[in-house]
Amino acid sequence: MAFAAQNIIGTGIAPKVKETSAFKSYRQNNVATDTGAVLMYLDMNSFFATCEQQANPELRGKPIGVTTHNSPFSTVIAPSIEAKKFGVKTGMRLNECRELCPEIIPVQTHPPYYRRIHVDIMEILHRYCDDVLAKSIDEAVANFTSYRLVYKDFIAVAKQIKQDIAEKYDYLRCSIGIAPNTFLAKLGTELQKPDGLIQITPDNIDGYLAGLRLTDLPGIASRNERRLLMIGIKSPLEMRHASEALLRKAFGGVVGNYWHRRLNFAEVDQYSNGLNRTMSATRTVSREQRESKQALDSLLISLCTRLEQRMVKMDLFCKEASFFIRYRNNTGWDTKIKFAQPIQDAMELRSYILERIHDFEKSNNKIMFNNNTLSMGVGVQGFMLGSVMQYSLFDNRILKDKVRKVMYNIKDKYGKNTVRKGCELFDPHAMRDAIGFGSVKDMFMVHDDGETSVRNPYLLEDEDW
Ligand SMILES: [Mg+2]
Repeated sequence: MAFAAQNIIGTGIAPKVKETSAFKSYRQNNVATDTGAVLMYLDMNSFFATCEQQANPELRGKPIGVTTHNSPFSTVIAPSIEAKKFGVKTGMRLNECRELCPEIIPVQTHPPYYRRIHVDIMEILHRYCDDVLAKSIDEAVANFTSYRLVYKDFIAVAKQIKQDIAEKYDYLRCSIGIAPNTFLAKLGTELQKPDGLIQITPDNIDGYLAGLRLTDLPGIASRNERRLLMIGIKSPLEMRHASEALLRKAFGGVVGNYWHRRLNFAEVDQYSNGLNRTMSATRTVSREQRESKQALDSLLISLCTRLEQRMVKMDLFCKEASFFIRYRNNTGWDTKIKFAQPIQDAMELRSYILERIHDFEKSNNKIMFNNNTLSMGVGVQGFMLGSVMQYSLFDNRILKDKVRKVMYNIKDKYGKNTVRKGCELFDPHAMRDAIGFGSVKDMFMVHDDGETSVRNPYLLEDEDW
């Protein structure tokens, strides 16, 4: 759907945003408001399906549905552009799809091929910009702000990027959005599909928004729509021109400020430095701990839990983890794990690490958690911001992620001992270790009402509680 920018309303000049204490602290980690900033968002159209059509020309122009396994009831994780025209949607079962589109061709996924294309597309973006962040396998955002003197015309750069992709993969299509912040650049990709190219500026934003419904905005689904309707905001245009105070009321706090800023050219969805760094948790093992395999496992849980709580507070998910263990005889073992989907959950993190440990133990006939253990550490990196995570890819996680947040809120409100999970109980000493060594960053919190406070980090539940 393409929207012509003909109904331009208002002056197009974004109102000045009042700085609250929450913003000031938030801004320390973020790109400041800058209507001259240049973010370019790239979204591959119907990525998995188009990749299959790229690999197999016989599938081109046909309605196909990519599935994870071969069964009449398997779920279509990616319909082709042609299948979408019949109303086929991501997440439908193949038998449902057949009712809408009898000639749909099921095709099984080839993730290594998608990853290879992803790497090639990232390489193409890096030809033009150093500051490129992959948002998912088929989305990336490039921050061109420091290239304003290098390139005169970013539309031309975007066209060149499209051409470079087409030269390598002639059947792939992408939509590109250019705007002063990540959110509006992503919105630009939604406005024209497939093969779109939209630049949103202070001069044309109201024209684009005028053609949209609230739920056309990324991040506004029915629940947020209801919140906005309740306070009388019926359209994205009204939302952009609503006061910060009103949006705070709609979203119940600082999230409202973020929405105001997104629609008024401030950056809230991209950490300028936070996303590139590593968080780690390390612990030296006490003599009692190294005598007990279970104590060492508890220690691993506490390290994972510490990282989880930091990720929850910063709304981050990680795509990579590392683990090391050191022994008293100066030997040690390191491993690095890449996740297919970003994770946040401590017990999930632990299970990946344990899996690696068990593999190593099996092939080397060794016991890793033994009484020579001196220290161990877990690191996470490759962060994605939860607010821009594509939940459609992680459907089974939504509930879990929300539950985790709710648990934190309860603990914040009523004290950390009100809610506990099973694994907190079997070795309280290991758990206390985790609390004692929280970093300063963990302890500093910005609350929904904009107030800040210093507190100890809490331990966290897992999905079994
Ligand atoms: Mg896409």
